[in-house]
Amino acid sequence: MPQAIQLIVRSAAGLAIVLLLGCRSARDLPERAAAAGDTVAISKVASRFGFERFDVEDKQIVLREKPGVLEMEGDSRRAMFNRVVFWLSAPPVRRWGRWRMLQSDVEEMLAPLIVPSEAVKSEGNRVVLLDPGHGGEDSGATSGLYNIQEKQVTLELAGAVADLLRREGIDARLTRTDDRAMDLPARCEHAATVRADVLVSIHLNSATNTGSSGIEVHILPPAWHPGTADRKASCGNCMRYPGNLHDGANLVLGHALQASLLKHTGAEDRGVRRSRFHVIRCAPCPAALVECGFISNLREAQKLLTPGYRAQIARALAEGLVAYLDTVKRAHSEQSAVPPWRPK
Ligand SMILES: [Zn+2]
Repeated sequence: MPQAIQLIVRSAAGLAIVLLLGCRSARDLPERAAAAGDTVAISKVASRFGFERFDVEDKQIVLREKPGVLEMEGDSRRAMFNRVVFWLSAPPVRRWGRWRMLQSDVEEMLAPLIVPSEAVKSEGNRVVLLDPGHGGEDSGATSGLYNIQEKQVTLELAGAVADLLRREGIDARLTRTDDRAMDLPARCEHAATVRADVLVSIHLNSATNTGSSGIEVHILPPAWHPGTADRKASCGNCMRYPGNLHDGANLVLGHALQASLLKHTGAEDRGVRRSRFHVIRCAPCPAALVECGFISNLREAQKLLTPGYRAQIARALAEGLVAYLDTVKRAHSEQSAVPPWRPK
């Protein structure tokens, strides 16, 4: 091989290695960042957001007063804001006697919860699209204990939520109004067609472990951040999706829904979780997927059979949505209160 060509081949190989390493470091970002020191002291986080108290006892880190109560645990991704569980991308770590957390977690996971109006100021508040999970040949989860099909319960719940929202004067739509099959991309296309401002996909959970119970809300993880169920550094499909245009609002929506569901049902809090489910990846607006309980759990299946409990869930979803839309409205009015020019 002529020397010039050898040089080109070697440079190309070098570039490929650089690119590969580049991709890998991007995929592992949160874990690597924690190790590399791209972190901030939690005491600084407390003063930035105006928490008046910052208490640490062993691994329990609690910030409280003024914006709310933020509880984190050293070496754990599980955290709570105003008593609702959510997950960080990486656990707080102790360095030189001080607890620190990822700077990106402060921006992506804390800021939207603590200052929601900032996160939703560019979002709309007109059309709510409710998506009853599954349908047609796809029954979703079925209960071996009782004759429950997920597709039927989700359709009933979505209809009840839509009725409650319409009574509040909100334009509520459904992706399906009968027992028909609908693929996941079609649900996102429907959201684009009706110019939805928010999409909530309604589901029931099921697990082989019949002891599993509780309610969880799934939202999209920010690009390059692991999902809640992902193992530490595994981040295989972490790229940016259309749903990532609404990262901050996704969290505000997820938190509002989960807070309302817990308040109305008293169910176990499985938290606001991060998952790359298709319908929340492709959504053209803020989106969440709610799992309203486990039909594989005897106690929860019995409750879900009761019309009264299903009505409680519907009310909870409607109130969570109204709370989210009110936050958007407040953000818009705060914005319009700011003069469009500033005197020099
Ligand atoms: Zn489902």
